[in-house]
Amino acid sequence: MYIYNLLYNRYGDLGWWPAETPFEVAVGAILTQNTSWNNVELSIQNLKKKIDLNPEELLRLDIDELKLLIKPSGFYNQKAERLKIFSKFVSVEYSGDIKYLDRFKTSDARNILLSLKGIGKETADSILLYACEHPIFVIDKYTMRMFNRVGVGWPEKYDIFQKNIMKLLPHDLNIYRHYHALIVENSKNYCRSKPICEGCPIAKICKKTIFNK
Ligand code: SF4
Repeated sequence: MYIYNLLYNRYGDLGWWPAETPFEVAVGAILTQNTSWNNVELSIQNLKKKIDLNPEELLRLDIDELKLLIKPSGFYNQKAERLKIFSKFVSVEYSGDIKYLDRFKTSDARNILLSLKGIGKETADSILLYACEHPIFVIDKYTMRMFNRVGVGWPEKYDIFQKNIMKLLPHDLNIYRHYHALIVENSKNYCRSKPICEGCPIAKICKKTIFNK
């Protein structure tokens, strides 16, 4: 919790995930694969200008029009197909209510999402944590990079990182939600591919900084 506290003291509650509905969270989680959030925001704005962002309306949208609307997020052919598959699943299985996944155990809900084409671990966990209320830690490239620079020395494998981080933290939905957001924010501001360590809130305990001094 020490790193969490240092980050939280700097940035506070970042209000993640930025979305109006749980379904919008899931759409964002699919669109953000391999692209930056700014591009996702443009796509979501386009979608919301055209439709009410819910599974039924997204299913009704012509696929070519959908591709055009989400083009800013890149990989729009793949992502349009993934959004259609996901929307159909939520619509048919859960009457359009993604929160139905909260009725399952976290591991079962996760397996359900992972069985859908184009939903990997990071996307599934983002949906479970932010669209639903499943306490599961989201791992991404920022998390692995920052923790390994700090000095944990874990292999950069999704499951290992997730298990190790969750072992160190209270099993708490809000802490997981805040922490992932804080890591992303700090990685954008300081812990970039070329880190800017001066001013980083965790510099005083980070091995990379300490050894570079
Ligand atoms: S001190 Fe530098 S290397 Fe360490 S977390 Fe901050 S930016 Fe990254």
